[in-house]
Amino acid sequence: MVVSQQRLFGTNGVRFIPGVTHDLDFVIRLSEAIGTYFGTGEVILGMDGRKSSLSIANAAVSGLMSAGRDVAEAGLVPTPALQYAAKSSSRGGVMVTASHNPPEYNGLKVCGPDGVEVPRLDEQRIEKIFFEGSQTKADWKSVGVARQEASVVRNYVTGILSRVNVKMIAERKFTVVMDLGNGAQCVAAPYLVEALGCKVVTLNSVVDGDFPGRGPEPVQTNLKDLALAVKSVGADLGVAYDGDGDRALFCDEEGRVLWGDQSGCLIADYLLEKTPDATVVTSVSSSQAIEILAKKRNAKVIRTRVGSVDVSRTILERKATFGFEENGGCIYPPHVAVRDGGMATALMLECLAAKGVAFSRAFSFSVSAFYQAKTKMQVDRKKVDAVMKAVEKQAKGRVERVDGIKVWTDERSWVLVRPSGTEPLVRIFAESDGQDKADALLKKFSKVVKTASI
Ligand code: MG
Repeated sequence: MVVSQQRLFGTNGVRFIPGVTHDLDFVIRLSEAIGTYFGTGEVILGMDGRKSSLSIANAAVSGLMSAGRDVAEAGLVPTPALQYAAKSSSRGGVMVTASHNPPEYNGLKVCGPDGVEVPRLDEQRIEKIFFEGSQTKADWKSVGVARQEASVVRNYVTGILSRVNVKMIAERKFTVVMDLGNGAQCVAAPYLVEALGCKVVTLNSVVDGDFPGRGPEPVQTNLKDLALAVKSVGADLGVAYDGDGDRALFCDEEGRVLWGDQSGCLIADYLLEKTPDATVVTSVSSSQAIEILAKKRNAKVIRTRVGSVDVSRTILERKATFGFEENGGCIYPPHVAVRDGGMATALMLECLAAKGVAFSRAFSFSVSAFYQAKTKMQVDRKKVDAVMKAVEKQAKGRVERVDGIKVWTDERSWVLVRPSGTEPLVRIFAESDGQDKADALLKKFSKVVKTASI
């Protein structure tokens, strides 16, 4: 096993503030390490619409070429489009993006020839090459070449269309309001939804690295314009994406924004109905609603550590049908086993077309019977063990240790306390069958964490 002392990769790729925490020289050396890790063949490289993305992409191209790799430059594309392009031609991929982080951030995401982010152990291999300075340095005759690849978005849209029933969706003549959040899906999602025969109304539809519309992360509180637009144009649904277009949140025709658990469960229910003996993968922090509906559909649920890489890798290992996260990430492996806002949109439209009722009436199962509450607290790393022991002491019933500690306080109530892997933080999630109960649980365990961390 390769163990590196220093870490560059966080939960999802390498993130930094260009020109403040890291410079372009860092990007070149890291890209040389990534090129060395890939070893042979062409690498495809894409970027999101951040202000710093083009300079970082250019530095990354140089670093990859310097390590002897040829590079296909995809330009500005959603992250899942880049990952689909990597999978389609079995080559490594690098995406310049900081996903939903504030405008000043950027980063690099590395994916393997299956399109999925490289496994955790391979992240450590890249880090080892970087910190040892053992990057391959190509000489003048073995340096890589670069070329443009202009078909990435077109192929991505065509790939999604081939996975859904276009005719059934088009017959419903849906009107869809799309809040593109000035992010990378501006160049793909509206064309996908138009190709599905829908009338498209867009908000924040110009790529802008300042994210002036509603910021790069869609959450229930900043989607009021989307909800208002859906109601005022009489649309069938609304959808909003994060900065790099891998996460999607939906709102129904009444303007109610669904959290990722709810939309994930709705799509899962539709897919499980069609797929016998199916398996769904989700992280330990998602709603228990998925177990309830999976039982109804005779399906299996696998829980992973928090983070889309863990969900994606488990989907591939267990040949699962579908995966989702509570933040709006949906993973449909027949297309590519990564979070994909475009694929999620097409699946949701197919699901609504098949059900033939308004979005607000499409929930026939008990997902809406659960309520969540969450918070995060600063905890010194030295105090984390004491905090986790104090949490464990509170456990009287079932305890799960997939990631952090999940304590069940009754049949329908749990609290998850999880130390962050990258920051001196502890995250606390609670779920119950009433908002008051979830809030009370969160309050109780926040107190336990606070007392133990002093
Ligand atoms: Mg993202």
